[in-house]
Amino acid sequence: MYEVWGGWAITAHGIKKNYSLAIEKDKIVDMGPTRELREAYSFDDSIGKERNILCPGFVDAHMHSFQLATKGLTADQSLLEWLKKYIWKWEADLDKEKARACAEVSFVQMIRSGVTSISDYSSVHHVDEAFGAAKRLGVRALIGKTMMDRNSPPGLEQDTDVCLKESEALIRKWHGKHGGMLNYSVTPRFSITSTDALLRGSKKLCDKYKLIFRTHTEENLSEIKEEKKMYGQSVIRHLDRLGLLNERAHLTHCVWTKPAELKLIAERGASISHCPGSNMMLASGFADTPRMLKYGINVCLGSDVAAYYNFSMFEQARLACLMQKARLHDPHAMDHEKAFKMATINGARALGFKDTGELKAGNKADVITLSTHHLAFSPLNDIISQIVYSAFPSSVNNVICNGKVLMRERKLLVANVYDIVDEAQEILEIHRGI
Ligand SMILES: [Zn+2]
Repeated sequence: MYEVWGGWAITAHGIKKNYSLAIEKDKIVDMGPTRELREAYSFDDSIGKERNILCPGFVDAHMHSFQLATKGLTADQSLLEWLKKYIWKWEADLDKEKARACAEVSFVQMIRSGVTSISDYSSVHHVDEAFGAAKRLGVRALIGKTMMDRNSPPGLEQDTDVCLKESEALIRKWHGKHGGMLNYSVTPRFSITSTDALLRGSKKLCDKYKLIFRTHTEENLSEIKEEKKMYGQSVIRHLDRLGLLNERAHLTHCVWTKPAELKLIAERGASISHCPGSNMMLASGFADTPRMLKYGINVCLGSDVAAYYNFSMFEQARLACLMQKARLHDPHAMDHEKAFKMATINGARALGFKDTGELKAGNKADVITLSTHHLAFSPLNDIISQIVYSAFPSSVNNVICNGKVLMRERKLLVANVYDIVDEAQEILEIHRGI
């Protein structure tokens, strides 16, 4: 048993001063004032400093590790252009080695940014590489093979049966494995590249194995026009008609989703991952997150790398607030408390991770510490406000996931960062000219 301690802790019951967590194996077994916990337990190790803030690990609820190699090459594009000219070409060309390099660099960056739970929307092939990297690096992961059975380029389009059979084989191989750290989600890319047969097959898999269903929805106006032609109604209504909207559905974007459809999503208990950086980068638009929250939808945040270029959840929380203030000309449109929840507990709920996302006894020990010696916290006046509006990944000094210390005083313990970066550079840089 060891302790994580600091001057402040953001707990499920509010911010506490001079606080400690007692961690045994994978769990927070107790928490309380540091002095009391030290009297009650004899700890083998002590991680922390007086000027640390204990914080739940961040949840990046939507990202694509295999797209990482395109970072820097794809700026200034709109969604469909970006997908067709760059991303699909890269994904079709992906081999095992490149997939592994992308996943390792992504997850290392995420750990160093304070992310302990990831939701990786993988590609069509080499999904094992993402699971393998998550296992080696010790992050809690929800990963799924992207399925595409129409309107897709060679190398990515597969027969419906192949999509579903390969997904089921991955479910059997990985779901719930590594002590429950690795989880599978059924993941058709989006409606334009998914037949109804694929969506129906997805529902069967979700029902059979009790899995999260993820897909991109209503991100871009051109996409919506195509969907209207295909279905004669919105994709949200279409998914509902197929029985796919329920409490295990996790929709990404919903930038252009109308109020009536948002109400339907709320009624069905589905979650929405909001990716403000990506939505601005691809000129997609401004999602109406205040309305989503008002209707009671569980809204979480995603970096959506590589539609965006970094994994900082501080930045996504900041953009989620700034976007709404500017859009609605209202400083109260989105506040830092809500954005912090989107980046932590709401993300955990959307990924189906029931016992993480906030610090409380009995939860999994997914904890990070932030140093108030970092200039972002100088002077320290309001912890949550400064996390959202001022902090950076370099404010994170310790990262613990499932009770295992992944980074200690900014030193990564689970891998050599330089080896991973050097190897990835060698494997991936030849594709500079895509
Ligand atoms: Zn995405």
